[in-house]
Amino acid sequence: MATTNRHLFFTINLLDWHSGHHRPMPWKGERNPYLVWLSEIILQQTRVEQGLPYFERFKAAYPTVTDLANAPEDEAMKLWEGLGYYSRARNLHAAAKHIAHELNGSFPTTYEGIRSLKGIGDYTAAAIASFAYDLPYAVVDGNVYRVLSRFFGMETPIDSTMGKKEFAVLAQGLLEIGNWGIGGETIPQFPISPIPNFSPSGFNQAIMDFGATHCTPATPKCPTCPMQEHCVAFLEKKTGELPVKTKKLVRRQRIFNYLIINRLREVFIKKRTEKDIWQNLYDFPLIETEALHDDRQFLTKNKTCEAWLGESGWQLLRVSPPQRQELTHQRIVATFWELGVGADFLPKEENWVAVERRKLSNFAFPKVIDLYFQQKFLPLELF
Ligand code: SF4
Repeated sequence: MATTNRHLFFTINLLDWHSGHHRPMPWKGERNPYLVWLSEIILQQTRVEQGLPYFERFKAAYPTVTDLANAPEDEAMKLWEGLGYYSRARNLHAAAKHIAHELNGSFPTTYEGIRSLKGIGDYTAAAIASFAYDLPYAVVDGNVYRVLSRFFGMETPIDSTMGKKEFAVLAQGLLEIGNWGIGGETIPQFPISPIPNFSPSGFNQAIMDFGATHCTPATPKCPTCPMQEHCVAFLEKKTGELPVKTKKLVRRQRIFNYLIINRLREVFIKKRTEKDIWQNLYDFPLIETEALHDDRQFLTKNKTCEAWLGESGWQLLRVSPPQRQELTHQRIVATFWELGVGADFLPKEENWVAVERRKLSNFAFPKVIDLYFQQKFLPLELF
């Protein structure tokens, strides 16, 4: 099958499939660039069921980009709490401020303008440009990589520079095929668009929906697939091998010992300002160690603990079982050491803030701390 015919077959059959398989989503058909942006940032690396309530909450709290820009960052982070990848929330807030203050509240209307915003990469820029303005930019996300690598039998690793380039060019070419009448370059054998009423947003939505619901990672629905006849992976029995990735994910394990220092009704928390995971979230005084500890000896012998608590006459109240949180590149194993100190205890560290325990829910914490709260290891009724 000639290259152009294969491309045309793909685009026509994809759109045909999509006409009968729309996935209803609250943000579908949305043309407001701010809301498209919000949904795309929230949904990156997040399951739809998990992201949906966050999208609704953000939309209700900040109906416009200016509302988001005017919100304190702590408030936006609190709303984001539990979604992970907190740099996305920080970038979202920073870009909203830029739009509100530098661009007079007007969302950029070109691909380049959108791409220049903080936290927006090629994928998100193409998604906003196409969904909000119907500009002809093809999206390439995990679903698109999978569908294209299988149908076209592409074995270039999708996490390589070369792979990223090849897949982006292919996706754009497929979109261009349908984009004839609205600015695409013409191919001699198709002087007019082979697909009437084509829209870039419809194409992008179709390929992402197809990957998410039909050409799925583990069990693609090949027997009922309209692409089957010319799909290389199906014909060569390679669906399990495509797409190809080079890098294996290696997770670094980190052991966190959190000190929950109870002073009457208060505990001490701190904002994470250092360049590390969970920047701008809150946590407790933290001692990071190489190994896991669960005995009192650890605290009495630890130099940092000694410097922090000194002769204050602290008491160990309880030690939690280790809690785990998996991040993309790190595994966090956290133990929570609950201590009691006297009413006259004064913290040695300037950035520790004393907060009444009942007010802890006003702050955004990492998931591992939320897990700890949920399991009620924190002795709220002790005093
Ligand atoms: S035939 Fe199977 S592998 Fe090929 S595109 Fe269809 S669902 Fe995906």
